[in-house]
Amino acid sequence: MIDWLPIGATWRGLLWFTLVLWMAHQLVSILSHWLFRYLHTQNIKPEWRAQKGKEPAKKLTDEAWKEWWLNHLVSVPLLMGFVLYPLFVWRGGSVDFSLPSWIDLIRDITVCIFANETIFYFSHRLLHHKKLFRLIHRKHHTFRQVRPVSSEYAHPLENLLNVIAMYAGLVIMGSHFLTWVLWVAMRIYETNDGHSGYEHINAASRHAYHHQFPTKGCYGTALGLWDRVLGTDQNWREWKARERVKAENTTTV
Ligand SMILES: [Zn+2]
Ligand SMILES: [Zn+2]
Repeated sequence: MIDWLPIGATWRGLLWFTLVLWMAHQLVSILSHWLFRYLHTQNIKPEWRAQKGKEPAKKLTDEAWKEWWLNHLVSVPLLMGFVLYPLFVWRGGSVDFSLPSWIDLIRDITVCIFANETIFYFSHRLLHHKKLFRLIHRKHHTFRQVRPVSSEYAHPLENLLNVIAMYAGLVIMGSHFLTWVLWVAMRIYETNDGHSGYEHINAASRHAYHHQFPTKGCYGTALGLWDRVLGTDQNWREWKARERVKAENTTTV
Protein backbone atom coordinates (compact mmCIF):
# COMPACT_ATOMS: atom_id res chain seq x y z
CA MET A 1 0.00 0.00 0.00
CA ILE A 2 1.11 3.58 -0.69
CA ASP A 3 0.34 6.09 2.08
CA TRP A 4 -0.69 9.04 -0.10
CA LEU A 5 -2.87 7.02 -2.48
CA PRO A 6 -6.34 5.50 -1.87
CA ILE A 7 -6.59 2.26 0.15
CA GLY A 8 -5.83 -0.66 -2.12
CA ALA A 9 -3.25 1.16 -4.24
CA THR A 10 0.11 -0.60 -4.61
CA TRP A 11 3.32 0.21 -6.47
CA ARG A 12 2.89 -3.02 -8.42
CA GLY A 13 -0.67 -2.01 -9.40
CA LEU A 14 0.49 1.47 -10.34
CA LEU A 15 3.24 0.09 -12.58
CA TRP A 16 1.02 -2.48 -14.33
CA PHE A 17 -1.82 0.00 -14.77
CA THR A 18 0.50 2.59 -16.31
CA LEU A 19 2.42 0.11 -18.45
CA VAL A 20 -0.59 -1.68 -19.98
CA LEU A 21 -2.64 1.48 -20.53
CA TRP A 22 0.35 3.35 -21.96
CA MET A 23 1.20 0.48 -24.31
CA ALA A 24 -2.40 0.35 -25.62
CA HIS A 25 -2.25 4.13 -26.09
CA GLN A 26 1.10 3.96 -27.91
CA LEU A 27 0.28 0.97 -30.06
CA VAL A 28 -2.98 2.38 -31.43
CA SER A 29 -1.49 5.83 -31.82
CA ILE A 30 1.59 4.65 -33.74
CA LEU A 31 -0.32 2.14 -35.90
CA SER A 32 -2.96 4.68 -36.90
CA HIS A 33 -0.26 7.31 -37.63
CA TRP A 34 1.48 4.76 -39.84
CA LEU A 35 -1.75 3.66 -41.54
CA PHE A 36 -2.81 7.17 -42.59
CA ARG A 37 0.76 8.13 -43.55
CA TYR A 38 0.87 5.07 -45.80
CA LEU A 39 -2.52 5.86 -47.38
CA HIS A 40 -1.44 9.45 -48.09
CA THR A 41 2.01 8.64 -49.48
CA GLN A 42 0.65 5.83 -51.69
CA ASN A 43 -2.18 8.13 -52.85
CA ILE A 44 -4.74 5.49 -51.94
CA LYS A 45 -8.38 6.57 -52.37
CA PRO A 46 -7.44 10.12 -53.47
CA GLU A 47 -11.15 10.98 -53.82
CA TRP A 48 -11.50 10.57 -50.03
CA ARG A 49 -8.63 12.92 -49.18
CA ALA A 50 -9.66 16.18 -47.50
CA GLN A 51 -8.70 19.45 -49.22
CA LYS A 52 -7.44 17.45 -52.22
CA GLY A 53 -4.66 15.96 -50.10
CA LYS A 54 -3.00 19.29 -49.31
CA GLU A 55 -0.32 18.70 -46.64
CA PRO A 56 0.20 20.89 -43.56
CA ALA A 57 3.47 22.89 -43.49
CA LYS A 58 6.52 20.73 -42.69
CA LYS A 59 7.78 23.15 -40.03
CA LEU A 60 4.48 22.93 -38.17
CA THR A 61 4.36 19.14 -38.44
CA ASP A 62 7.93 18.87 -37.07
CA GLU A 63 6.99 21.12 -34.16
CA ALA A 64 3.91 18.97 -33.45
CA TRP A 65 6.02 15.79 -33.50
CA LYS A 66 8.36 17.26 -30.85
CA GLU A 67 5.37 17.91 -28.59
CA TRP A 68 3.93 14.48 -29.42
CA TRP A 69 7.07 12.72 -28.17
CA LEU A 70 7.22 14.85 -25.04
CA ASN A 71 3.55 14.12 -24.30
CA HIS A 72 3.80 10.42 -24.98
CA LEU A 73 7.05 9.80 -23.11
CA VAL A 74 6.52 12.13 -20.14
CA SER A 75 3.05 13.66 -19.66
CA VAL A 76 0.94 10.60 -20.58
CA PRO A 77 2.71 8.06 -18.29
CA LEU A 78 2.77 10.58 -15.42
CA LEU A 79 -0.93 11.27 -15.90
CA MET A 80 -1.73 7.56 -16.00
CA GLY A 81 0.34 6.63 -12.95
CA PHE A 82 -0.31 9.53 -10.63
CA VAL A 83 -3.78 10.81 -11.58
CA LEU A 84 -5.70 8.06 -13.37
CA TYR A 85 -4.46 5.11 -11.28
CA PRO A 86 -5.51 6.75 -7.97
CA LEU A 87 -8.92 7.53 -9.52
CA PHE A 88 -9.19 3.94 -10.78
CA VAL A 89 -8.44 2.51 -7.30
CA TRP A 90 -10.64 5.09 -5.58
CA ARG A 91 -13.56 3.84 -7.74
CA GLY A 92 -12.88 0.27 -6.58
CA GLY A 93 -10.73 -0.97 -9.48
CA SER A 94 -7.84 -3.41 -9.28
CA VAL A 95 -5.38 -4.59 -11.92
CA ASP A 96 -5.83 -8.35 -12.23
CA PHE A 97 -6.59 -11.06 -14.78
CA SER A 98 -10.37 -11.02 -14.33
CA LEU A 99 -12.72 -10.07 -17.19
CA PRO A 100 -15.71 -7.73 -17.11
CA SER A 101 -19.11 -9.13 -18.13
CA TRP A 102 -20.31 -8.25 -21.66
CA ILE A 103 -23.16 -6.23 -20.22
CA ASP A 104 -20.84 -4.16 -18.01
CA LEU A 105 -18.41 -3.66 -20.88
CA ILE A 106 -21.07 -2.46 -23.36
CA ARG A 107 -22.80 -0.30 -20.73
CA ASP A 108 -19.53 1.40 -19.68
CA ILE A 109 -18.29 1.99 -23.24
CA THR A 110 -21.68 3.52 -24.10
CA VAL A 111 -21.38 5.88 -21.10
CA CYS A 112 -17.80 6.74 -22.17
CA ILE A 113 -18.96 7.61 -25.71
CA PHE A 114 -21.73 9.90 -24.43
CA ALA A 115 -19.60 11.50 -21.68
CA ASN A 116 -16.78 12.15 -24.14
CA GLU A 117 -19.12 13.51 -26.80
CA THR A 118 -20.87 15.83 -24.35
CA ILE A 119 -17.85 17.19 -22.46
CA PHE A 120 -15.81 17.53 -25.65
CA TYR A 121 -18.59 19.30 -27.56
CA PHE A 122 -19.41 21.92 -24.91
CA SER A 123 -15.81 22.60 -23.82
CA HIS A 124 -14.73 22.82 -27.48
CA ARG A 125 -17.61 25.18 -28.29
CA LEU A 126 -16.63 27.32 -25.30
CA LEU A 127 -13.03 27.44 -26.59
CA HIS A 128 -14.39 29.05 -29.74
CA HIS A 129 -15.42 32.09 -27.70
CA LYS A 130 -13.29 34.96 -29.11
CA LYS A 131 -11.10 35.46 -26.03
CA LEU A 132 -10.62 31.78 -25.24
CA PHE A 133 -9.90 31.04 -28.88
CA ARG A 134 -7.12 33.62 -28.93
CA LEU A 135 -5.63 32.49 -25.63
CA ILE A 136 -6.06 28.71 -25.84
CA HIS A 137 -7.64 27.09 -28.87
CA ARG A 138 -5.80 28.96 -31.64
CA LYS A 139 -2.81 26.66 -31.24
CA HIS A 140 -4.80 23.56 -32.26
CA HIS A 141 -6.23 25.46 -35.21
CA THR A 142 -2.76 26.38 -36.53
CA PHE A 143 -3.33 23.21 -38.56
CA ARG A 144 -5.72 24.15 -41.39
CA GLN A 145 -4.97 20.77 -42.96
CA VAL A 146 -4.97 17.85 -40.54
CA ARG A 147 -2.83 14.79 -40.03
CA PRO A 148 -2.93 12.49 -36.94
CA VAL A 149 -0.02 14.31 -35.26
CA SER A 150 -2.17 17.46 -35.12
CA SER A 151 -4.71 15.75 -32.85
CA GLU A 152 -2.67 16.42 -29.71
CA TYR A 153 -1.08 19.71 -30.79
CA ALA A 154 -2.93 21.94 -28.36
CA HIS A 155 -2.56 24.31 -25.41
CA PRO A 156 -2.06 22.36 -22.11
CA LEU A 157 -5.44 23.57 -20.82
CA GLU A 158 -7.17 22.24 -23.91
CA ASN A 159 -5.36 18.93 -23.54
CA LEU A 160 -6.56 18.81 -19.92
CA LEU A 161 -10.19 19.34 -21.02
CA ASN A 162 -9.78 16.56 -23.58
CA VAL A 163 -8.36 14.26 -20.90
CA ILE A 164 -11.37 14.96 -18.64
CA ALA A 165 -13.75 14.22 -21.54
CA MET A 166 -11.90 11.02 -22.39
CA TYR A 167 -11.72 9.50 -18.91
CA ALA A 168 -14.92 10.86 -17.28
CA GLY A 169 -17.08 7.88 -18.26
CA LEU A 170 -14.58 5.34 -16.89
CA VAL A 171 -14.31 7.15 -13.54
CA ILE A 172 -18.09 7.70 -13.27
CA MET A 173 -18.78 4.00 -13.90
CA GLY A 174 -15.85 2.66 -11.83
CA SER A 175 -15.00 0.54 -14.88
CA HIS A 176 -13.02 -2.69 -15.06
CA PHE A 177 -9.36 -2.33 -16.12
CA LEU A 178 -9.98 -4.06 -19.44
CA THR A 179 -12.71 -1.52 -20.21
CA TRP A 180 -10.15 1.26 -19.56
CA VAL A 181 -7.73 -0.35 -22.02
CA LEU A 182 -10.38 -0.90 -24.67
CA TRP A 183 -11.82 2.62 -24.40
CA VAL A 184 -8.36 4.25 -24.53
CA ALA A 185 -7.62 2.29 -27.72
CA MET A 186 -10.98 3.29 -29.24
CA ARG A 187 -10.66 6.97 -28.33
CA ILE A 188 -7.07 7.30 -29.57
CA TYR A 189 -8.01 5.69 -32.87
CA GLU A 190 -11.05 7.94 -33.15
CA THR A 191 -9.09 11.17 -32.62
CA ASN A 192 -6.40 10.12 -35.12
CA ASP A 193 -9.11 9.14 -37.58
CA GLY A 194 -10.74 12.56 -37.12
CA HIS A 195 -7.36 14.16 -37.92
CA SER A 196 -6.43 11.70 -40.66
CA GLY A 197 -6.78 14.14 -43.55
CA TYR A 198 -9.35 11.75 -45.03
CA GLU A 199 -13.11 12.22 -45.30
CA HIS A 200 -14.01 8.54 -45.50
CA ILE A 201 -16.66 8.84 -42.77
CA ASN A 202 -18.82 11.74 -41.60
CA ALA A 203 -16.95 12.15 -38.29
CA ALA A 204 -13.60 12.64 -40.08
CA SER A 205 -15.20 14.89 -42.70
CA ARG A 206 -16.78 17.10 -40.01
CA HIS A 207 -13.49 17.59 -38.18
CA ALA A 208 -11.46 18.23 -41.36
CA TYR A 209 -14.11 20.82 -42.27
CA HIS A 210 -13.85 22.32 -38.77
CA HIS A 211 -10.09 22.82 -39.23
CA GLN A 212 -10.58 24.28 -42.69
CA PHE A 213 -13.39 26.63 -41.59
CA PRO A 214 -12.99 27.15 -37.81
CA THR A 215 -15.87 29.63 -37.53
CA LYS A 216 -18.47 27.40 -39.18
CA GLY A 217 -19.37 24.88 -36.45
CA CYS A 218 -18.80 21.11 -36.09
CA TYR A 219 -17.57 21.00 -32.49
CA GLY A 220 -18.27 17.35 -31.69
CA THR A 221 -16.36 14.08 -31.96
CA ALA A 222 -17.35 10.72 -33.48
CA LEU A 223 -21.11 10.79 -32.98
CA GLY A 224 -21.71 14.40 -33.89
CA LEU A 225 -24.72 14.13 -31.58
CA TRP A 226 -24.77 17.67 -30.18
CA ASP A 227 -23.88 19.18 -33.56
CA ARG A 228 -26.98 17.48 -34.94
CA VAL A 229 -29.25 18.40 -31.99
CA LEU A 230 -28.10 22.04 -31.81
CA GLY A 231 -27.72 22.53 -35.56
CA THR A 232 -24.01 23.40 -35.47
CA ASP A 233 -23.29 21.01 -38.34
CA GLN A 234 -25.65 22.80 -40.76
CA ASN A 235 -22.86 24.62 -42.65
CA TRP A 236 -21.02 21.35 -43.06
CA ARG A 237 -24.17 19.61 -44.38
CA GLU A 238 -24.74 22.34 -46.98
CA TRP A 239 -21.05 22.35 -47.96
CA LYS A 240 -21.08 18.56 -48.28
CA ALA A 241 -24.15 18.71 -50.55
CA ARG A 242 -22.44 21.33 -52.76
CA GLU A 243 -19.26 19.22 -52.95
CA ARG A 244 -21.33 16.20 -53.96
CA VAL A 245 -23.01 18.13 -56.80
CA LYS A 246 -19.61 19.42 -57.97
CA ALA A 247 -18.20 15.89 -58.00
CA GLU A 248 -21.22 14.56 -59.95
CA ASN A 249 -20.91 17.35 -62.53
CA THR A 250 -17.19 16.63 -62.98
CA THR A 251 -17.83 12.93 -63.64
CA THR A 252 -20.70 13.55 -66.07
CA VAL A 253 -18.82 16.18 -68.16
ZN1 LIG B 1 -8.75 19.01 -34.25
ZN1 LIG C 1 -12.02 24.09 -32.75
